[in-house]
Amino acid sequence: MGNARFAFLLAAGLLQWAALARSAMVVDDVTRINPIVVDRVLVPTTIDEVVEAVRLHPGPVSIGGGRFSQGGQTATEGALQIDMRRLDGVVAFSEERKEITVQAGITWRKIQSTIDPYDLSVQIMQSYANFTAGGSLSVNVHGRYIGQGPLVQSVRSIRVVLADGRLVRASPKENAEIFYGAIGGYGGLGVIVEATFALADNVRVERRSEVMPLSAYREYFRASIRGHHDVIFHNADIYPGAFDTVRATSYVRTDKPVTIEDRLIPEGRTYWGDRLGMRVVSDWPGGRALRRYVLDPILFHGERVEWRNYEASYDVKELEPVSRRTSTYVLQEYFVPVDRLEEFVRAMQEILNRHRVDTINVSIRHATPDPGTLLAWARTEVFAFVHYYKQGTSDAERREVGVWTRELIDAATALGGAYYLPYQIHATEAQFRAAYPRADEYFALKRRLDPTDKFRNKLWDAYDRHVPGPSPARPAAPRLLRTASAIAPADPAVREQIEAFLGGVAGYRRDEAQTYLTLPEWLLVFYPAEYARFLKSRPASQFPYFASVRQFWDYDRDVCRITTGKYPFNWGYHLMVLVIGSSYTAESCLKGAYESTVGRMAERLAGAAMTQEDVFAADVAQEYVDFIRTEPWYEFSFLRSLKQLWAETDLFGPHLLRKWERKLALSAEYLVKAQYGLLIKIASKAAYGNEATGILALADNAPAGALEHEARVEVRRRFANGSALLSLPRYDEFRDAVRRLASRGVRFREIAGNGEILMTAIVPAAWSYDLEAGSVVIERPMLTDPGHKRIAVRAPVASLHGILLALEDRNLEVEHLYDY
Ligand SMILES: Cc1cc2nc3c(=O)[nH]c(=O)nc-3n(C[C@H](O)[C@H](O)[C@H](O)COP(=O)(O)OP(=O)(O)OC[C@H]3O[C@@H](n4cnc5c(N)ncnc54)[C@H](O)[C@@H]3O)c2cc1C
Repeated sequence: MGNARFAFLLAAGLLQWAALARSAMVVDDVTRINPIVVDRVLVPTTIDEVVEAVRLHPGPVSIGGGRFSQGGQTATEGALQIDMRRLDGVVAFSEERKEITVQAGITWRKIQSTIDPYDLSVQIMQSYANFTAGGSLSVNVHGRYIGQGPLVQSVRSIRVVLADGRLVRASPKENAEIFYGAIGGYGGLGVIVEATFALADNVRVERRSEVMPLSAYREYFRASIRGHHDVIFHNADIYPGAFDTVRATSYVRTDKPVTIEDRLIPEGRTYWGDRLGMRVVSDWPGGRALRRYVLDPILFHGERVEWRNYEASYDVKELEPVSRRTSTYVLQEYFVPVDRLEEFVRAMQEILNRHRVDTINVSIRHATPDPGTLLAWARTEVFAFVHYYKQGTSDAERREVGVWTRELIDAATALGGAYYLPYQIHATEAQFRAAYPRADEYFALKRRLDPTDKFRNKLWDAYDRHVPGPSPARPAAPRLLRTASAIAPADPAVREQIEAFLGGVAGYRRDEAQTYLTLPEWLLVFYPAEYARFLKSRPASQFPYFASVRQFWDYDRDVCRITTGKYPFNWGYHLMVLVIGSSYTAESCLKGAYESTVGRMAERLAGAAMTQEDVFAADVAQEYVDFIRTEPWYEFSFLRSLKQLWAETDLFGPHLLRKWERKLALSAEYLVKAQYGLLIKIASKAAYGNEATGILALADNAPAGALEHEARVEVRRRFANGSALLSLPRYDEFRDAVRRLASRGVRFREIAGNGEILMTAIVPAAWSYDLEAGSVVIERPMLTDPGHKRIAVRAPVASLHGILLALEDRNLEVEHLYDY
């Protein structure tokens, strides 16, 4: 074979593998613990595009602003996400009226840059300037401003695209219910596309800071802060642990000359000093005490006079840690009526200390009452408690956070208060309703404006009872099935008619052998996923590199055994697997050889400690896996990882030898992969054809009700006997769609014209397959988890629903359904 032909096949092979899962997109928020696979992300630059998308899109629509909310509020599975960040223009500005009209995707920072030359400021906004106007309106945010409260107080009007595509203006006087519903409405009523805000004067402010017992703070606030119009910003940080001391800091209007010349914080600022400080406080032993007794006194020492806009233009970069993979930094917030401050702090201290929560800071803010939004968090004058803490990202750690979060919510609502909705969604429905007693009015308005529940996200999936959640009640199917019964064959005459129709449907039939042949390709997604999981808790040198290579080829042999003789031999495909397998073998052997020698020696020098670089490598491994589930691998930017490695990890620090060994090893790995990826990407443009984006299936019992909330599932044709031709998404989404449809009563007759399909499941090592339908054709141990094994089950399509439901009933994980 000529070199050129081999190169072509190499590229084609790798690309075919890479294209396994490319149709959907994962969106996530800043905590990196809420990845959601959406159908599509639309980035409109005009209001007309938003109107068209909302009007024409048949499935759910979610809205994303800056994506700084932390619990999936901007997305839901299978939705069209409208990413507003490029609808970010200034529509009108009047210096005289102190008023600006903007498109909703604009950030506060961009507004500040526009109005600063006119000595004007945003009247109410958060402590950081990265958020979008639309995201802030939908959350009805607040800042550290004295005499102000929720953002709605500074809004003159908004323009909203409703579910039917109508564009309406709303203000306290015009369409008032839409105004008070959409502001604070978390994107459930429509897309806010424009807003007009009142502005304030940009004045010089002087910082004043003092430490006092918590018991003295309320009186101090009443006497020296509340009603004092010269106090612009104010907050008080409670030192965690004893929670009995606060540092109260105010920025008071002054005529003194500024000590900071910049009018806005320069946009490229790295905040390295602040981030280092954060790292010291959160990660070092004694970090909290160091902050209270050493860092804060230095930080707050001396005169500081600055512009209001300067103090309002911080970037959230200031808080960003080196890595969010094994742990992440998260916010929560609770509101209580002002006279219940001490009671709440006592309860909070007890709960946080009992659960040993890694609290970094609790900041007290103040807000005046909300003028009438339906989901108001400030129903009276309140103190807000902004809780900033560090948490692990494992499932167990996330569950534990849920436990104490619910205790804190109970503590706040028992005092007549509320909790904030843009953060992780842990509250029960009863807690949500206790904190937001007008929720029913909001949902009633939503029913009127959005009767088909078009606007959805994880928040409304959780609390809007009208929306079928991700695991709807299953039809009364037999549970713990052993027989996994098949559906009855269709009447022969009808069957003939259907076959005649299907014969003419382009792309209906796919080669059944492919359900088996694609297994080795998917291993090249599963192994990196196992590797990423492994790195979170164990050293890189212990990963079974060589065993995974051996196992890969064993699986390949199994697949040959199953298909040979039963299906025509597919030379092209086997060759492609040979090519990608060889590439995986080369990479793993090189890594295995390095890690078991040099890597292991360097690891020993560090003992059990993980260096920043180890954590970084685990982070990138996970990012890579998340990426290749939806995008071709060669699109992953290893060059960006390389740059981040050098920018985000320190040059010096504990375990210096291991640190530098990792830096160099990772740099070499990322560099080689970046070059190789580029090569394949270029080749792909020449060699790769379009992959089919959907798969067709013949199914029974597919009433409209079972499908109305199914994203990317379409009924192509209904037949007289009640069967329907469905179009389903591919790859990971195919598995999820088939599972959901099966649980809603849909029964499959054929998928892509085939009567059998391969599926893999991860089950306990001691478990034996005991269902009557389907048979295990491959069984191999999980290399990094001896307690479990992977089984590959040959499933008759007519029994697929029963097998899936039976495995689910036993809490067994269906890893993949191989869609030919
Ligand atoms: C580091 C940090 C600091 C914070 N500080 C504060 C603070 O000081 N005060 C405070 O109140 N909050 C604070 N928050 C919370 C923050 O204000 C919210 O998460 C806010 O939503 C972020 O705005 P965003 O543009 O990222 O919105 P997103 O997170 O993108 O969206 C939030 C919600 O608004 C909806 N939405 C977005 N755009 C639109 C639109 N155009 N039309 C309709 N719906 C839309 C989304 O669907 C979603 O439900 C902070 C968060 C972080 C991470």
